[in-house]
Amino acid sequence: MLNFAVGPVMCSDEVRAIGGEQVPYFRTPEFSAVMLENERLMLRYAKAPEGSRVVFMTNSSTGAMEAAVMNCFTEADRVLVIDGGSFGHRFVELCQIHGVPHEVIKLEHGRKLTRERLYEYDGQPFTGLLVNIGETSTGVLYDAEMIGGFCKKNGLFYVCDCVSSFLADPFDMAHCGADVMITGSQKVLACPPGISIIILAPRAVERVTNARVKSMYFNLADALKNMERGQTPFTPAVGILRQINARLREIERAGGAEQEIARVAAQAADLREKIKGLPLEMVSEAPANGVTSLHPVNGDAYRIFEVLKDEYGIWVCPNGGDMKSTVFRIGHIGHLSHEDNTTLTDALKDLHRRGIL
Ligand SMILES: *Cc1c(COP(=O)(O)O)cnc(C)c1O
Repeated sequence: MLNFAVGPVMCSDEVRAIGGEQVPYFRTPEFSAVMLENERLMLRYAKAPEGSRVVFMTNSSTGAMEAAVMNCFTEADRVLVIDGGSFGHRFVELCQIHGVPHEVIKLEHGRKLTRERLYEYDGQPFTGLLVNIGETSTGVLYDAEMIGGFCKKNGLFYVCDCVSSFLADPFDMAHCGADVMITGSQKVLACPPGISIIILAPRAVERVTNARVKSMYFNLADALKNMERGQTPFTPAVGILRQINARLREIERAGGAEQEIARVAAQAADLREKIKGLPLEMVSEAPANGVTSLHPVNGDAYRIFEVLKDEYGIWVCPNGGDMKSTVFRIGHIGHLSHEDNTTLTDALKDLHRRGIL
């Protein structure tokens, strides 16, 4: 199997081996130590400000998005939501479900958020902003620093979904002023799906500690309290948390976050170079390192995904909704090499010869 999806992705052998082990009981000092090391490395890699804390939740990353909305905002807020694709739209739906007053900045698929567009909302009575720094459905990377400057100027509570961009594109939580950063186990962390991670800057720690959340499972104050001793309120996905630990250590050994980001960037650049000449258009005007979104000029995007999977044993990532037949994506995250890019490129060339692409 050769998997170029944008999650779940290919795991290293070390991470995979842990998946074959028995899952240990977890209310122990040994597991607490694993969790506290996970927290320490996550804070370092996100460049989180002093006093930040980490919560590990057992659910997919949408659970972390929902927890952030529920714990950080109420009906007394008025938030801006950047909606440039299906993940941005998910934040819009979460605000609707939880009764958080919001205004949507709707962007055409593939477009970045410009300073001009954002500053149309300058000086207005908003209290927060929700954005997916990498809009994975279109492969667009937004400018976390520019948005952070706007939030600072306007006093907005700033929530960054970095689910697919964390460790793929540079992100400096302290410098851009993000209050909340979200990611998940199955993207660049290259572990099985099941764990989402929320980093809370001091202002967010204070906010969630005082929040009155109508939920037991999504109560971040409870999670923070447990995490003081490296534990979670309920049984977590223990095995995946051990895999995350191995993966974070792997990254550390290989030179840290900067090295991993450079590796993903090189993997993306290599593929983009190799597919030049094929009838594929880049969808994103500001491409993220983790994923290349492509519009096949002649073929049907979903059919290309199916034929690659069924006849070549290669997974790319199809799109849903109104992008289903027009856009597919190639991921650059996880345990992939430049040789893997060549294998995929050869298959795409073959599809072109066969008139499918
Ligand atoms: C993958 C992803 C998510 C989370 O998706 P889940 O299926 O819930 O894990 C959220 N936001 C972005 C930007 C993503 O890429």
